[in-house]
Amino acid sequence: MKEKQVVLLGATGSIGRQTLEVVRAHPHLKLVGASAHRDLAGLRRAVLEHSIPWVCVSDPTVPRENIQDFLGDLPCKILYGKEGLKELAAAPSDIVLTAVVGLSGLEATLAALEAGRDIALANKETLVGAGALVMAKAKARGASIRPVDSEHSAIFQALQGSRVEDIERLILTASGGPFRGKKTKDLQNVTPKEALAHPQWTMGAKVSVDSATLMNKGLEVIEAHWLFCVAPERIAVHVHPQSIVHSAVEFCDHSILAQLGTADMRLPIQYALNYPERLPGPAKSLDLIAQGTLSFEAPDESVFPCLPLAYEALRLGGYTPLVLNTADEVAVELFLKEQLPFLKIPQMIEFALGHFHREGALTLEGILDLDETIRRELARAFFEKKS
Ligand code: NDP
Ligand code: MG
Repeated sequence: MKEKQVVLLGATGSIGRQTLEVVRAHPHLKLVGASAHRDLAGLRRAVLEHSIPWVCVSDPTVPRENIQDFLGDLPCKILYGKEGLKELAAAPSDIVLTAVVGLSGLEATLAALEAGRDIALANKETLVGAGALVMAKAKARGASIRPVDSEHSAIFQALQGSRVEDIERLILTASGGPFRGKKTKDLQNVTPKEALAHPQWTMGAKVSVDSATLMNKGLEVIEAHWLFCVAPERIAVHVHPQSIVHSAVEFCDHSILAQLGTADMRLPIQYALNYPERLPGPAKSLDLIAQGTLSFEAPDESVFPCLPLAYEALRLGGYTPLVLNTADEVAVELFLKEQLPFLKIPQMIEFALGHFHREGALTLEGILDLDETIRRELARAFFEKKS
């Protein structure tokens, strides 16, 4: 099989490490670049195993001498900081897998697209905050964006051989997270440890908390809108606690095609990297008889208000999804530091949606400026208002 060169942004995270496993299982995939933010030991392990010629340490506060200590003896070119991440993203390759967390992935994704690279996108926040910009750049440069997120991969797979014009609606499934079935009063004293204990998936901290608030599903509704050009009123969310049906497409004849499999991110990762080939891989076969039951229920929007907030932001458009996304990043970080109670996460996001605005067409400068303003001002403004 022809060699396929892969750049992996965020090689040390949950998706990054699972991508390394996929690369290990598919010898035609060749890692030509990898980044970490601060995890130098993790990056060193990846370089040693995969002989990666280009690496980037994206956190500019990591001292250069520490980087030299960890990586200096290896035969790889080392890039640094945000600019280094952009350079790595645009380096020659067949596909760039974006597995960094948050809007921090935006500029590197745009740099990769500008260089005409195809993207395997895990970093959903980039599409949520800057969907119009990212999709326009992909179109202008003839690059494709293939989903890694399991729901969007399921939809992408269900759409093979079908026309996007024939979509009646998308059905995004959600596990419901660790607090499915709870009432608001039960969630008053939730700790980060409880929020991070996802019943089906082992993921990074940010996406785990987003799953607990259902903001992850809200971000995925916006991601689906951009990837598949479907209006918000035609994107439904069904809670499906077994996480076996990864999502589905209903067509105009009311036929529904779904993708099923075990809850294993290596499957959507390898599909995105190998597309249009479908190859054997490390994911286990699904035993439907042993599984027995598949159930579906409506999400409880009164207990999990992040989901309707995301729909509202998508309907309003412009810079509003960016405000939603950045406010969520700020709120989740504060929650993880135990400086914000779980139930105040949606309150802080709703406050941000009323407080921060920007008119006009989406531009990179506008996005970076508003993002920076929200990160600087949101917590103070929110706590002052509340006290
Ligand atoms: P992790 O927190 O596990 O990993 C994040 C990765 O990004 C690490 O390599 C980290 O480096 C790096 N990173 C952290 N901060 C920055 C920054 N400011 N700039 C550049 N790089 C940074 O996250 P996940 O792997 O769980 O998630 C990655 C993305 O994939 C997210 O957008 C998430 O929503 C999405 N996703 C994740 C799924 C999952 O199963 N985990 C499922 C579907 C989507 P270091 O380790 O050095 O800190
Ligand atoms: Mg998902």
